[in-house]
Amino acid sequence: MSNYKFFDQVNKAFDKAAQYSRFDAGLLSQIKICNSVYRFSFPLKKDNGDIEVLHGWRVEHSHHKVPTKGGIRFSMSVNEDETMALAALMTYKCAVVDVPFGGAKGGIRIDKNNYSQDELERITRRYTFELIKKGFIGPGLDVPAPDYGTGAREMGWILDTYRQLNSELNSEACVTGKPIPMGGIRGRTEATGRGVYFGVREACKDKEDMKDLGLEPGLEGKTFVVQGLGNVGYHAAKYLIEGGAKLIGVAEYEGSIYDKNGIDLEKLMEFRKDTGSIIGFGNTKEMEDRGAVLEAECDILVPAALENQINSDNMENIQAKIIAEAANGPTTTEAHDYLKKRGALLIPDNYLNAGGVTVSYFEWLKNLSHVRFGRMEKRAEATSYRKILGVIENISDRTFTEEELEKLASGSGEYELVDSGLEETMIVAYQQINELRKKHDIDLRTAAFLNAIEKVGAIYEQMGIFP
Ligand code: GLU
Repeated sequence: MSNYKFFDQVNKAFDKAAQYSRFDAGLLSQIKICNSVYRFSFPLKKDNGDIEVLHGWRVEHSHHKVPTKGGIRFSMSVNEDETMALAALMTYKCAVVDVPFGGAKGGIRIDKNNYSQDELERITRRYTFELIKKGFIGPGLDVPAPDYGTGAREMGWILDTYRQLNSELNSEACVTGKPIPMGGIRGRTEATGRGVYFGVREACKDKEDMKDLGLEPGLEGKTFVVQGLGNVGYHAAKYLIEGGAKLIGVAEYEGSIYDKNGIDLEKLMEFRKDTGSIIGFGNTKEMEDRGAVLEAECDILVPAALENQINSDNMENIQAKIIAEAANGPTTTEAHDYLKKRGALLIPDNYLNAGGVTVSYFEWLKNLSHVRFGRMEKRAEATSYRKILGVIENISDRTFTEEELEKLASGSGEYELVDSGLEETMIVAYQQINELRKKHDIDLRTAAFLNAIEKVGAIYEQMGIFP
């Protein structure tokens, strides 16, 4: 797998779908290309006085809509190819869920566990400064968010750094996934995992698909294995369990565990916090290595860590009937085609993990509107806030009950509002890609790419070319 090129993988999936679109080669390459790639290096003074040079990237894939949008990753896997691929995936993901952003992604090649909190703060602030210098961040330019290895804490540092250097009115909207008191929105932390749950739930409703897989429709009783208990993996697992599915295997950095009778997620999280490992938890059996549990017998496999986890080395051993791509790019094109051929259902990343950016969009709108939920006293304001949020596009058919409106009006309804907007978004997007799948007799990933190509292509077509 040493010559694995992530951006090539994304483009292969793109090309497969592009055949079904009406656009010519020139326009297709305009969509595919990464518009701006910024690579930079900067020094860190460590707590002990040593100097270390770090490498960072920010890639803006497509300016068909601005701002561009996408997370910032702190990981040793970060490089130019990875950042470009992830930025491109953001473009397609946003298009699939009708979130009006171009795609972007950033990262620093570090293992965050090797740095103190103070060092991480200095790294994050300097990285932000580099983005400001080159115009790669701003509410209307490019808006970062959390990704692998970063979270609300880092987003808070990004906002504060930005604010020190920009006095503009809308500065709060320069980054999403912030702590709530700094302009964050309720429901953003769990959004990606929650969206994964909604997406899997939708896919499992399809009676024909389930019949083909030899499964009953619905989530109830389905067994699943999750790779990665980070923000995405943990929340996806939590909501899948609440929806009736049974967690039977977990893969993490330190190894993997399996118990066909079910694993108590909350107790496992506590155990890992206390002991630093998932190994030895309850009645679980330790597998020979961390990848082994991906090959265990289960209905649903949820890769929620990094790219390239299901590849030519392990594809023949994967037994899961449904692959729910919570991570970005977890399945190589070769493995995808192999698993499809053997009848598996793959729910693609550029649809399934779009919940994060969907709720980021709500957060960005909230910041731009300068409306605070807690201050809304009248019901009318609650209803108009719903419009401001823009979720109206997706929930216009839904009538709110008296009780719901009261809740919205009293200010306690932010989470409910976000959650219903997210749910509706994931349902509508699934319907769109499922229709395309059936129309062209293609797989879901190709359908999701086609859906995105049609939307982005139509914008480029109408926009024309400057000058
Ligand atoms: N990093 C997340 C993703 O890969 C979220 C991006 C965002 O909210 O802008 O989709």
